Amino acid sequence: MDATGEQVHLLLEESGALLRGHFRLSSGRHAADYVQCALLLEQPARAARVGELLAGRLAGKRPESVLSPALGGLIIGYQVAAALGVPFRFCERRAGRMELRRGFRLRAGERLVVVEDVITTGGSAAEAAALARAAGAEVAAVGAILQRGEGADLASPPVTLLRLELDSWPPGECPLCAAGAPLSAPGSRPSAE
Ligand SMILES: [Zn+2]
Repeated sequence: MDATGEQVHLLLEESGALLRGHFRLSSGRHAADYVQCALLLEQPARAARVGELLAGRLAGKRPESVLSPALGGLIIGYQVAAALGVPFRFCERRAGRMELRRGFRLRAGERLVVVEDVITTGGSAAEAAALARAAGAEVAAVGAILQRGEGADLASPPVTLLRLELDSWPPGECPLCAAGAPLSAPGSRPSAE
């Protein structure tokens, strides 16, 4: 963990964002650890600080805008865009499909970064990137506060502030399920997907 990673880890601890229990991640996998980035970003000054740190890592990609998948990417994506001084847009799921709504438009050739809060498989970020490419935009990078998995759904490694090696399992192989521990699903993706 580098100095920035240590700083972010401390902010996560301070904000009570590091949870222990039995969780269903947005990816569908189960885990004993959950990082609730909403708590990290609850205090605007802390959110702005984390946004500045991530913007610092992404500035070299020279993005013209930031695109985030709702809901997880909204606050951090906005803070990164604010720090970079570029427009912020978000996409959201409708009937299971990621869409750009609310009058947001991407320009053909627009160079953007996709910003998410946590990358496990990177599924939502990959969908946002695919949407951007389909609109003719260029995805310069995917950025996130935290990487807790391999990001297997992403075409290239994400730019992150912190990587935590936290175990997760497919539901059928979860030791906590086997032990009968009650499951909670704190992520934002509907469980039907
Ligand atoms: Zn389980």
